[in-house]
Amino acid sequence: MTTTTRALCRHADALPVESAVTGDTLAYLCPACDTQLPASFGAELEQLRARIARQDACDHNREVSDITVWGAGVVASLCQDCGKNMTPCTAGGSDR
Ligand SMILES: [Zn+2]
Ligand SMILES: [Zn+2]
Repeated sequence: MTTTTRALCRHADALPVESAVTGDTLAYLCPACDTQLPASFGAELEQLRARIARQDACDHNREVSDITVWGAGVVASLCQDCGKNMTPCTAGGSDR
């Protein structure tokens, strides 16, 4: 049983597993990677979905802050608005 995407999955599509008796959420199950998550994941899931919704709605056009490391140039650009990492892909840029 190998799940290659497990480490990358944020379980944004996790579904609550509810008790048929009490209706309480017992746990969450992520259909994408088949991982069972504790009931406490619910709060995390709400934040995660809110963040994803913000990043989806954001055009990332303003207030991008560059994180610069001495000698390495810009290593990361984060959108100040939604926190998304906007670092441009620099494939093939191994010149020095
Ligand atoms: Zn998952
Ligand atoms: Zn943004």
